Amino acid sequence: MTQGTASGSVLVTGIGELVTCAGADGGTPVDARVTAAQRLGLRRDAAVAAVDGVITWVGRADSAPAADRRIDVGGRAVVPGFVDSHSHLVYAGDRAGEFSARMAGTPYDGGGIGVSVTATRAAGDDELRGLLRARIAEMRALGTTTVEVKSGYGLSVADEERSLRLAREVTDETTFLGAHVVPPDARGDRAAYLDLVCGPMLEACAPHARWIDVFCEPASPHAFTEDEARRVLVAGRDAGLGLRVHGNQLAAGPGVRLAVELGAASVDHCTFLSRDDVEALVGAAGTTVATLLPGVEFSTRSPYPDARGLLDAGVDIALATDCNPGTCNTASMPFVIALAVREMRLTSAEAIIAATVSGAKALRRSDIGRIAVGSRADLAVLEAPSFEHLAYRPGMPLARALDLS
Ligand SMILES: [Zn+2]
Repeated sequence: MTQGTASGSVLVTGIGELVTCAGADGGTPVDARVTAAQRLGLRRDAAVAAVDGVITWVGRADSAPAADRRIDVGGRAVVPGFVDSHSHLVYAGDRAGEFSARMAGTPYDGGGIGVSVTATRAAGDDELRGLLRARIAEMRALGTTTVEVKSGYGLSVADEERSLRLAREVTDETTFLGAHVVPPDARGDRAAYLDLVCGPMLEACAPHARWIDVFCEPASPHAFTEDEARRVLVAGRDAGLGLRVHGNQLAAGPGVRLAVELGAASVDHCTFLSRDDVEALVGAAGTTVATLLPGVEFSTRSPYPDARGLLDAGVDIALATDCNPGTCNTASMPFVIALAVREMRLTSAEAIIAATVSGAKALRRSDIGRIAVGSRADLAVLEAPSFEHLAYRPGMPLARALDLS
């Protein structure tokens, strides 16, 4: 995400409660065997020093180093800026009518994506860029400092390339999702569309993308089967892209096991899992993160994933918004944290870890998601004395990214 990071040193002081998400010793990489309370790395009366946007010191305020500038946060809590590792922010139009119909009983099968494709293709570059930047600004205002952005509402070579080019203007974490659905203009010729995705579309998009993703959901007639998804992922890997998978959202299916088999960084949704899926994810801890998107279940009135069972089994889980115009139109990580605590029985400590350092892990990043020497100085300040207020006061505007410029 673009943000102002001034040159020179800055000291953030007056931190009543500092959540580092960097473990009890304040710096070493997180070890899955330590408890969430230890992983929080909680400090009182703390300060954080940074130089040129990189953290250089973390400790007690009364022993803080000198700095060119000081920012006093007045006793508020400070947490790592949220890492939203799954979003679909490049689109035009909205689907409020579809949402209302769904709330009135119409089931979701992935078909409404075509509405967003039509609106996105019709939008000019400046319109699409303006919409994207407004969404990024909303996220920062809610405490998010890193966001992954997928294409997937263009679904032609030119429109996917444009989506990723615009996304690259606002984040390094860009994902090619030409295999979102088979678009209506493919007229049901799935093989021809896959040839396009794995050929010219991938070639045009790869220069702007870090990742490739696929909606592997045989239960939806619009999404992709296991064999189709494998073909897309292997083509992306051969083009130098990292792998991500949308899997097991609407029904049990092959998405999770495919993601584990191919060593994907993340498999996202994980709402309907078999015992074999959970075992596969346990075996893939350290490689493949299960990213849960409870805003989708909230917005589609669906059962939530078994986050508690996954954590207790030893699965790496992350939380993200899946912000998109169809199934979850919120960019709020605090809202997702509140859902995770209230609806999925995570503790507040587990939820904030999943929304920060585990989100970073889902993006294979060690320089974000925690407040430690050497990490990026991406901080969120809360209008609250403690991080626990994020779930305790749902829907309140508590978090904002701290601008150090
Ligand atoms: Zn998604």
